[in-house]
Amino acid sequence: MLQTIAAFDRIGEENAFAVLARATALAAEGKDIINLGIGQPDFRTPDHIVEAAIKALRDGHHGYTPATGLLATREAVARRTLTTTGVEVSPDTIMILPGGKPTMYAAIVMFGEPGAEILYPDPGFPIYRSMIEFTGATPVPVPIREENGFAFSAEETLALITPRTRLLILNSPANPTGGVTPRAEIEKLVKGLEKHPDVAILSDEIYDVMTYDGESHCSLLEFPEIRERLIVLNGWSKTWAMTGWRLGWSIWPNSEQGGRLYDKVRKLAVNCWSCVNAPAQHAGIAAIDGPQDAVDAMMKAFDRRRKLVVEGLNKLPGVSCITPKGAFYAFPNISETGWKAKKLASALLEETGVALIGGPDFGILGEGYIRLSYANSEENILRALERVEKFLGQNP
Ligand code: PLP
Repeated sequence: MLQTIAAFDRIGEENAFAVLARATALAAEGKDIINLGIGQPDFRTPDHIVEAAIKALRDGHHGYTPATGLLATREAVARRTLTTTGVEVSPDTIMILPGGKPTMYAAIVMFGEPGAEILYPDPGFPIYRSMIEFTGATPVPVPIREENGFAFSAEETLALITPRTRLLILNSPANPTGGVTPRAEIEKLVKGLEKHPDVAILSDEIYDVMTYDGESHCSLLEFPEIRERLIVLNGWSKTWAMTGWRLGWSIWPNSEQGGRLYDKVRKLAVNCWSCVNAPAQHAGIAAIDGPQDAVDAMMKAFDRRRKLVVEGLNKLPGVSCITPKGAFYAFPNISETGWKAKKLASALLEETGVALIGGPDFGILGEGYIRLSYANSEENILRALERVEKFLGQNP
């Protein structure tokens, strides 16, 4: 099934990259573009992390590393996991991969096949559905609703499980909504999952420390009862502003009971990418063990921008925006403007130079919404909001 061209024809896109390309082309033509489209911090990777990579290169770390990643990098991830979740995980269950996406790919191809059902958040990160379709499995959207603060509903999620369900994909804090699923809801979900022992779980926790207003992230790792069927996706891209480094990690079951999933993903690595480049893995250790002031400063800046963006959006005619609790996205409801979301996103880019993403690029339930990434300066956010206000005033 995977070998056929037809499977490749089912692969989707992440439209944020197309919007970025169009915005870059318009900027090259001399247009003043404000990019609120792409989901990457506008901060540089902190200097001490860059220096660690340079040192690694100078010290001669030029060769292959183990396919699972350097032991020192995996040990650093284990230390960080203990700090953020209070859970001890063995480095023998930690895999270092080229970004967060390869974990998504690995987990979804492991469980997806024709006849299988895979549950994924809608609206959600578009690659989940794309990869599910690649495998020929049936994508089953789990509705993520505004009235629920864009959190998962345990009840609604559990009700979608059938005897064919093989994998449930969770994401909190979430892209594109900024929603954070509360601990109590996750506890309910885990309790319900005990009745479905054959359903594996992929928990995408790449925004784990990016929360606001005292909200805290609840990791699925905190529930030993599902550990043997849990894959946790995480990485350096967002927290340490390292999207272009291509460095991620994931935590897998590594026992007979857990189906030796770790060994399966190790084999996939050997076949597909051998290992993550060695200097990046050294930089990853410095990111985890070094000072976190740059991360704290970035989160403070995001918090200020978040408030600015939400306040500004709620003043626009026909627009309402709930305050996101995590990540660096706002997901305003634009249904009262009379615009279709993708048309509005495209008109805003072409006519006002403001790049953002239409909600339908994140799923069926994304209609009526747009996504703004507030990874841009306060000044640019205010300029963008002014332009959108003017545009909506002239094009009701
Ligand atoms: N998971 C979510 C929810 C994301 O938003 C992203 C990136 O936007 C990723 C995973 C992928 O991260 P990476 O760039 O490390 O592959």
